[in-house]
Amino acid sequence: MTDVRVRFAPSPTGPLHMGGVRTALYNWLFAKAHGGTFVLRIEDTDQGRFVEGAEAYIEEALSWCGLSPDEGVSPGGEFGPYRQSERSQLYRNAVNSLINQGLAYEAFDTPDELETLRKAAEPGVFQYDAQSRGKLRNSLTMDSIEVAKMKSNGAPFVVRFKTPDEEEDVTFEDAIRGDINFKSSVLDDKVLMKADGLPTYHLANVVDDHEMRISHVIRGEEWLPSAPLHVLLYRAFGWDHPTFAHLPLILKPTGHGKLSKRDGDAGGFPVFPLDWTDPKSGTTWPGYREQGFAPEAFTNMLLMLGWNPGDEREIFSIAEAAEEFSLNRVVKSGARFNPDKAKWFQEQHLRNAGANNHVKALAELAKAQGVDWNEDQCKAVLDMMLERVTFLDDILSHRWLFEPPNVFNTKLVRKKWKEETAGYIHELANMLDGLDSFSSTNVESTFKRFLDTRELGFGQVLLPFRIALTGEGGGPSMFDFAAFLGKEDTLNRLNRGVEAVLALKASEEK
Ligand code: GLU
Repeated sequence: MTDVRVRFAPSPTGPLHMGGVRTALYNWLFAKAHGGTFVLRIEDTDQGRFVEGAEAYIEEALSWCGLSPDEGVSPGGEFGPYRQSERSQLYRNAVNSLINQGLAYEAFDTPDELETLRKAAEPGVFQYDAQSRGKLRNSLTMDSIEVAKMKSNGAPFVVRFKTPDEEEDVTFEDAIRGDINFKSSVLDDKVLMKADGLPTYHLANVVDDHEMRISHVIRGEEWLPSAPLHVLLYRAFGWDHPTFAHLPLILKPTGHGKLSKRDGDAGGFPVFPLDWTDPKSGTTWPGYREQGFAPEAFTNMLLMLGWNPGDEREIFSIAEAAEEFSLNRVVKSGARFNPDKAKWFQEQHLRNAGANNHVKALAELAKAQGVDWNEDQCKAVLDMMLERVTFLDDILSHRWLFEPPNVFNTKLVRKKWKEETAGYIHELANMLDGLDSFSSTNVESTFKRFLDTRELGFGQVLLPFRIALTGEGGGPSMFDFAAFLGKEDTLNRLNRGVEAVLALKASEEK
């Protein structure tokens, strides 16, 4: 293990959005690429926004994606506990040390008082800061006896960070965005500890990143505005700050604006890794897992939403990605999500895994539909169908694979089925009947022999042959499929198919 330690620090306020999974993925990859440690920390200090089941959802989603943490609530670790709600004492000590050094202070202004000031000023102008704090009710303006009295009377107070008195230029480097400069005067005196004694996000996040020896903070762009305050907080504590890396936004398919839950609804694609049922409303949101996505396809898709290898390659296993991942190939600008591309990744991974790897799963899917395919049959079906589907269970939606068709493509029948076609199919069926070994090559050579003797072109017979066997106009090699069916079933389907098509044509002529 190297000194590289990264963390994923979600708040259990709902299901993990796919943007959150991408943050976890990039952290995980960065840890693996550097032989480091990936920590999962649950930032549950905001009790008001706590959602039942969210923490378990986060763990399950990460585990499905193959992003299990090295340290965290479940695996444990030497820097625990890993839930912020169990670390209150640490934050209290930290905030007291700041107060003692004059770098934080207690403020007694009530929410009503602050609201009045906010309303009296131009919109957005009032802030609690180096300019205004001298006129407000806090331990900087009140004498210590008064402060002590208020506290002993139980007056609620918060602890605020004391931003520098004099404006300063502050710079830090973001591993993705380069140098970031800001003036300390733009910051307000953020609350570090709330009246209930619980820390705010800023305090708990900084204290824990330090306590847990986090070397790199890799997180979404939405946290970039917090980074300046965090840099000053680290300085106040006398700690080095970790390297920051703020990931680009994931944009809507249109490229305009941040991808949201509603876009998924409107576009018919999931924005969550797993199905999520809201414990209050009972509404279920769809997840990639339940849609049939392979976890490696999902993570590959997320990998390419903001990172590239510097060349044209797009398909990566998670292990390959871990070898190549680096922060300097993460882009700054927003990454547009494309639901069709997500399916493309799924198709690539389904095929790349190879037929043999899907035999068991297909056998089970088939069984669930009452179709009893043995391993050889599953393998044959996969060889025919893998190139033609997005999800494994799409295969079973082609019912002609396991039962003679009842529906025949009327348009094609009208266009391609001529007077003489039925005769051809019967003649061909007779020749096929003579075969001893009903292999795909034998069916094919018989088919060709038939065309030769009758001086016919491929197209005149192959499509009707396909229609008779499947009812459809497209699909895998019909020689492979005939071999899969075997002689008896093939001949039965051909006879049945011819009859059905003739009946269809007769009814059309009426
Ligand atoms: N708890 C924050 C979140 O929900 C963590 C942000 C950070 O990584 O610093 O994303």
